Amino acid sequence: MRLGRPGIAISGGGILLIVALALVTGQDPLELLNAVSGPSASVDSGPGGQGQVGAPTDELGKFAASVLGSTEDVWERVLPSVGHRYRRPTLVLFTGEVQSACGFTSAAVGPFYCPLDGKAYLDLSFFNELKQRFGAPGDFAQAYVIAHEIGHHVQNLLGIADQVDAARRRVSSEDANALSVRMELQADCLAGVWAYHANRDANLLEPGDVEEGLRAAGAIGDDRIQKRAQGYTVPETWTHGSSAMRVRWLRRGLQSGDVRDCDTFDADSL
Ligand SMILES: [Zn+2]
Repeated sequence: MRLGRPGIAISGGGILLIVALALVTGQDPLELLNAVSGPSASVDSGPGGQGQVGAPTDELGKFAASVLGSTEDVWERVLPSVGHRYRRPTLVLFTGEVQSACGFTSAAVGPFYCPLDGKAYLDLSFFNELKQRFGAPGDFAQAYVIAHEIGHHVQNLLGIADQVDAARRRVSSEDANALSVRMELQADCLAGVWAYHANRDANLLEPGDVEEGLRAAGAIGDDRIQKRAQGYTVPETWTHGSSAMRVRWLRRGLQSGDVRDCDTFDADSL
């Protein structure tokens, strides 16, 4: 992936400056990054992240900020085209555990978005897990994970998150899971929409990137995860969709670049 090119919110020069400053002051580079990035591409290193940020995390931290900046460039243009204004979210980087408006969450849960405070939470160790446990390495695979969480932010801005939340409270747990699957697949599709536009604007994708993202989407499907954990899979308990579904919806967004093609709630088959 070619990130950090002109047009992306945080430029390479700025990042270098931050890392250099951090070396001099001994401060956490992510905190400095947060301090200077201002309203654009705001990245917090959450309360749990302090004192544990080493060199590899710095690299990942600035990568995460670049991806976030790219999602802002894209969504600030794409959302108005369907009649909505984009509000930039905050990306909170943490290690261990984190307190959000949605409660206290451990890194074991994986990356998540909290609609109550409008922030995406990312434990950078998930990237390692993606590579080692799920066999899905690569920068585009990592970017897809971030773009998926930003997809949830878009759903929040569009009012979809509220509607689904209300609907889930009225139905059986099985039907609530089915709604959750449609919600997650839509976030996958929206991640694809981001990649489509980011690629058109800045030639983001390199050969193999799409396969990398699709591999990651396929690796974190509920069926694959359940089979690995318990040897069998129970579709009624799925909350994110099967590997095949996740690949299909990410690919759909990637190919069309149109939010309206991401209506998983209207789709007969997923
Ligand atoms: Zn999700």
